[in-house]
Amino acid sequence: PFLLSDRALSLKPSSTVAVTSRALELRRQGVDVISMSVGEPDFDTPDHVKAAAIAAIESGKTKYTAVNGIPELREAISAKFARENGLSYAPDCVTVTSGGKQALFNAFLALLNPGDEVLIPAPYWVSYPEMVALTGAVPVAVPTTPESGFLLDPEELEARVTPRTRMIVLNSPGNPTGAVFPPEVLEAVAGVAQRHNLVIVTDEMYEHLVYDAQQVSIGLYAPEHTLTINGASKAYAMTGWRIGYAGGPKGVIAAMNALQSQSTSNASSVSQYATLAALSDQAHTAAFVDMARAAYRERRDRIVSGLNALGLSTPTPQGAFYVMADTTPIHPDELEAARRILDARVAVVPGTDFAAPGQVRLSYATSMENIEEVLRRIGRLLI
Ligand code: PLP
Repeated sequence: PFLLSDRALSLKPSSTVAVTSRALELRRQGVDVISMSVGEPDFDTPDHVKAAAIAAIESGKTKYTAVNGIPELREAISAKFARENGLSYAPDCVTVTSGGKQALFNAFLALLNPGDEVLIPAPYWVSYPEMVALTGAVPVAVPTTPESGFLLDPEELEARVTPRTRMIVLNSPGNPTGAVFPPEVLEAVAGVAQRHNLVIVTDEMYEHLVYDAQQVSIGLYAPEHTLTINGASKAYAMTGWRIGYAGGPKGVIAAMNALQSQSTSNASSVSQYATLAALSDQAHTAAFVDMARAAYRERRDRIVSGLNALGLSTPTPQGAFYVMADTTPIHPDELEAARRILDARVAVVPGTDFAAPGQVRLSYATSMENIEEVLRRIGRLLI
């Protein structure tokens, strides 16, 4: 009787599964595989955030909350948008979700109809096209190249607009490329949205992890077209707490709340109080973010110079904690290259699912010792 639904069957099986399962299998056998494939900070959640969660538990703040989040948190998010991004989203134009992922999912469900087209710069985070396709809408990739540091060309974007186009998804700083789109590119993208009456969904989860570039929110240029997604996961090393949020026009936020009220009800109450501490205790949070950013920058510099020295061409990303390495000197096919790198006891993600042929993604959210060892292991493959 358990025939799977068309929707469940439509999910594209991940081509990275084979590599990931092999990595897990090797670990089970006691082989020391270094993982460069994870998408989360290696730092612990800051102490002041943990303390706020413990206090919330002890004072009984452990019940359902309002669907859109506790009012104090929505006020803190509204203040954060104003302070850090120059965006004005009133507290009732903000909603709190179970992770950035659910904010995106609710947004796509609230805005997309079957057949609508959604422009997504590639290489992209794999969940965008999958989530878009689950709504029945059609993801349309807009290619970018390693030569340009994966910068989006607004003309390439506009060339793909059709009468069915409804939305542009932006992710800057980006996963997997680490690209940070400069203000002039964002302004031009905002112009495309305005000319063709498109929605911009901007995922700014990595906004604090920017090294030599300037991080700007596209909502500054086209506020009436923009839904801004963010969250606690990457900024405050809180991936397990599952807190994301969105700011946008009241009507869209209300539709997202209605969807959430019939699915998860609200994000975890304890995690909401923890995130409130992360956003309100600015001194402690800034110290944590600055420490993490400095560590990531040092690691980025080491891994980029190391991979290039090995002959694996790797652009210097300006943000997030990923690099994309050209692995064609190991093997022209990135899946096979990732397999060979795994045989050298390093787990990486092949670019196949990101629309990045010939490349693999390495996360440098790991220790400098691991990075040095990874470079040695990959180096031995190339002798
Ligand atoms: N957006 C991007 C670009 C990501 O890389 C991730 C996590 O990998 C998310 C959103 C999801 O964040 P969360 O863990 O808060 O759902």
